[in-house]
Amino acid sequence: MIIVQKYGGSSVADTDRIKRVAERIAAAKQEGHDVVVVVSAMGKTTDQLTRQALDIAPIPSARELDMLLTAGERISMALLAMAISEQGLSVRSFTGSQAGIITDAEHGKARIIDITPGRITDAIGDGHIVIVAGFQGVSRDSKDVTTLGRGGSDTTAVALAAALEADLCEIFTDVDGVYTADPRIVPDARRLTQVTHEEMLELAASGAKVLQVRSVEYARNHGVRIHVRSSFTYQEGTWVEEDHVMEQAIISGVAHERGEGKLVVRRVPDKPGVAANIFTSLADANINIDMIVQNVSDDGTTDISFTLPIDDGPRAVQLLEGLRDAVGMEEVILDEQVGKLSLVGAGMKTHPGVAARMFSALSDAGVNIEMISTSTIRASVVVREPDLETAVRAVHEEFRLAEVAP
Ligand code: ASP
Ligand code: MG
Repeated sequence: MIIVQKYGGSSVADTDRIKRVAERIAAAKQEGHDVVVVVSAMGKTTDQLTRQALDIAPIPSARELDMLLTAGERISMALLAMAISEQGLSVRSFTGSQAGIITDAEHGKARIIDITPGRITDAIGDGHIVIVAGFQGVSRDSKDVTTLGRGGSDTTAVALAAALEADLCEIFTDVDGVYTADPRIVPDARRLTQVTHEEMLELAASGAKVLQVRSVEYARNHGVRIHVRSSFTYQEGTWVEEDHVMEQAIISGVAHERGEGKLVVRRVPDKPGVAANIFTSLADANINIDMIVQNVSDDGTTDISFTLPIDDGPRAVQLLEGLRDAVGMEEVILDEQVGKLSLVGAGMKTHPGVAARMFSALSDAGVNIEMISTSTIRASVVVREPDLETAVRAVHEEFRLAEVAP
């Protein structure tokens, strides 16, 4: 059977770790599997390269930045191939382009549009272990090298697993799975045995850092089973897959996010077209809005609040100030001291009252809720940033997430 394994930057951070990973890969091969390995750049390489680029040019050419950043994964892939060779096994490394990862031309956040893994399947056929540089592809139109966005090696691995019809995609990282909450905040957080793709998608999109959101989306769309596990132990991790045979919990976990800010547009006219105007401008500037709340007024004006990535805050304020005359608004206030908490669970679909219980738990903990949004399997609130950890602990406790569901 074909196994795709992905090793993250911390798993290949130095040469000793690369050698250890090589042993692990050799073991999988010796068990009789065909092994395709996707690697990230060593340690903080991508951050370092980005900093160097910014030292030279405040706004580097997107094409050249991708050229630079893809070098990180080429280094780790070649070193890992040498380490596997030292184990006495035959191995071939390939860049994303050589591996047939075809993308659109959006530098820095390219999407995979096709995979032509001919060289990979040939190499597997010849008995080689295959190493692929993660996070990169080549544009069908421009023929230039592209990157898939930060954390994109996860997506490379899932996409290859789908294209090769692999039995399994193992994501090796520095944590041993997906937890019911961040263990640094909630010491009795529990490692989940299984989550569905839908739940994992909501968790990842709500701030759980363990998998790139896009990789989960890709896995859901193509039915790829993922096993998230530690590269430092041989312990089972968390399975992301559909059949919930082991656990039937209503709630899977609590995710939190500090990277968002809240923008309040005060006293805009309460009439048709205002929201359309504001949010079209933001969308045109490629600013991703998350939660939106509009307060109803009785004096003909209203407040519109929404959350957005903190990094986009200043740009959004500038943009809205530019609309002041066209739209008519009293002021625009950017609040960076907020945190978001999300409760995720497939059981919310069929169990009413989950959100109400969450609000009560927050109230008992003295935490004020500033914004609320829900989906069929998620309930999210925005709170003051200093209240965030208290809020996460209170909700985790209320739903007894430390205990395995009966
Ligand atoms: N090296 C890239 C990053 O740091 C891709 C990855 O790690 O998946 O974002
Ligand atoms: Mg990484």
